Amino acid sequence: MAHHNLAAQLDTLERDGLLRRRLTLEGAQGAHVSVDGREYLAFCSNDYLGLANHPRLIEAAIEGMRRHGVGSGASHLVTGHNIAHDRLEKKLADYVQLPRALLFSTGYQANIGAIAALVGRESAVFSDKLNHASLIDGVRLSRAEAVRYPHGDTAFLEQALAKSTARQRMIVTDSVFSMDGDIAPLPALLDLAERYDALLLVDDAHGFGVLGPQGRGALAHFGLRSPRLVYVGTLGKAAGVAGAFVAGSPDVVETVLQRARTYIFTTASPPHLATALEASLELMQAENWRRERLRDLVAGLRAGLRGSNLRPSDTPVQALVVGGNAEALALSDAIRDRGILVPAIRPPTVPEGTARLRISLSAAHELADVARLVDALHATLPETPKLATVT
Ligand SMILES: *Cc1c(COP(=O)(O)O)cnc(C)c1O
Repeated sequence: MAHHNLAAQLDTLERDGLLRRRLTLEGAQGAHVSVDGREYLAFCSNDYLGLANHPRLIEAAIEGMRRHGVGSGASHLVTGHNIAHDRLEKKLADYVQLPRALLFSTGYQANIGAIAALVGRESAVFSDKLNHASLIDGVRLSRAEAVRYPHGDTAFLEQALAKSTARQRMIVTDSVFSMDGDIAPLPALLDLAERYDALLLVDDAHGFGVLGPQGRGALAHFGLRSPRLVYVGTLGKAAGVAGAFVAGSPDVVETVLQRARTYIFTTASPPHLATALEASLELMQAENWRRERLRDLVAGLRAGLRGSNLRPSDTPVQALVVGGNAEALALSDAIRDRGILVPAIRPPTVPEGTARLRISLSAAHELADVARLVDALHATLPETPKLATVT
């Protein structure tokens, strides 16, 4: 009767510093947010380009709602597929320079749906140890043999691929690792995929809109093209709205459409999200200043925190590793007392003993905002004894 232990289990979580608490935003997402009647400077969202509350997107959503209604009313394969979805899919494919794209309601659904659609019992999936939970769950659901390789270790991966006798192979990886901000060695991974007859699924949740010329994503960043690539972009982060898409060769995309259970057995997302996303794509392409601003903010933060346990990262995801859960929470709380929100990320989201502050930067931030964060951290860091001992 495990449910009788729920209260005790929750107590244990609390004691271990692992109880999660939600913040309730009273207004829109942005560089400044309102929580419990107080305004905070926030470094918490994945709204990297600062588009989540942009007037052009809001207008496009309202216009889309007038034209197409509020709800899609059915799944894509019944009658939920709207011309707004269709147009967006074509624009997404053009933007990431792949033959075809298929829209999903969330990135979580796109990943688990695509993996389980493309591999099965007789396959093996090779997965970076720091991959996002949705990739891990997709591999589980696919029933393929799961082989996890140490973070970024392409030599280990090559040995595992060479040993594999599975009928089909797929490598899956985050492009930008969500809790560290480093970039996967995609050219080396694609080279291995080609040499060992594997597909390569790239989850570009944190690269889409951020990396590459005009924000076209991680594949464009490295100039990679291959029919073996399965690309997943998410639309709730840099794109500022919600949703995701799987892109790749026509055969890959059609197979996902035919087989992905998270595509088939769910209601299509409201069409006005697609019209908002069309407006978002235009700004993402046109407004390079947003990515230039991000680069300046990253440089400013890293210069200000030189000598700390900031993980190597050139992306808007910057991880300040603290170590213990209680210490990470204490640092987050101390910063919060100064009017700044930075989340403490703890296991199981990150490995045991590597609890951290995950600082995420947005084009909505000013350089002065980063300076304020740096000052607050300098004023607070000496109070967290573990910081100096963890690397
Ligand atoms: C956020 C995220 C997802 C899930 O995308 P949602 O659209 O939020 O469901 C998938 N992969 C990675 C790496 C992510 O960070």
